[in-house]
Amino acid sequence: MEIIKLTFNDFYENTYILFDHTKECIIVDPGNSTLSEDKELFDTIEKHKLTPTLLINTHCHLDHVFGNGVVAEKYGLTPKINIKESIMLENYPRICEMYGLKHRPSPKAEEILKEGTSVEFGKTVLQVFETPGHSPGSICLYDEKGETIIVGDVLFRESIGRTDLPGCNHDNLIQSIKTKLFTLPKQTKVHSGHGENTTIGYEMAHNPFL
Ligand SMILES: [Zn+2]
Repeated sequence: MEIIKLTFNDFYENTYILFDHTKECIIVDPGNSTLSEDKELFDTIEKHKLTPTLLINTHCHLDHVFGNGVVAEKYGLTPKINIKESIMLENYPRICEMYGLKHRPSPKAEEILKEGTSVEFGKTVLQVFETPGHSPGSICLYDEKGETIIVGDVLFRESIGRTDLPGCNHDNLIQSIKTKLFTLPKQTKVHSGHGENTTIGYEMAHNPFL
């Protein structure tokens, strides 16, 4: 699996394009929030001659869903989320208002991503882990063969997701990281919703929150 990371919006959110040799791709957490960011995302997909087949939100905080509407429309996709995240997507317009930010509408999502299921594109299979804490329906996408995991805002390089927002639970977050992520091989590459990449082994050794 190959990964392109684009960093968008005022929150420096990482939007991921995952693809393999078949050139099918999935778009994870499109945070594009302006016309120029939309263009950057679409141009990148075009430049690599990719065909988007899935739109996934690891969770539905505003900075991870700003681009849902334009991506859904451009590629004929419906966002896929965990059912416990529906409430966050419903609240998204109100949260934008609270932050004084322009609300870019998101279509209603399909609530199909749950523990034990997988998502597929091209020849790649990603396992879905439910990792609540930063948000009630946060999920991670694990590529076992490629030793890579997309974690949204659950785990960061030397940090963890914030738990001071509505719907957060600190104990659940720690439990999610310890039982779902720190049981993976240490060489597993971790791609987070903000900041740099890391590995499971590095965070086990150096993360001050764990
Ligand atoms: Zn978040």
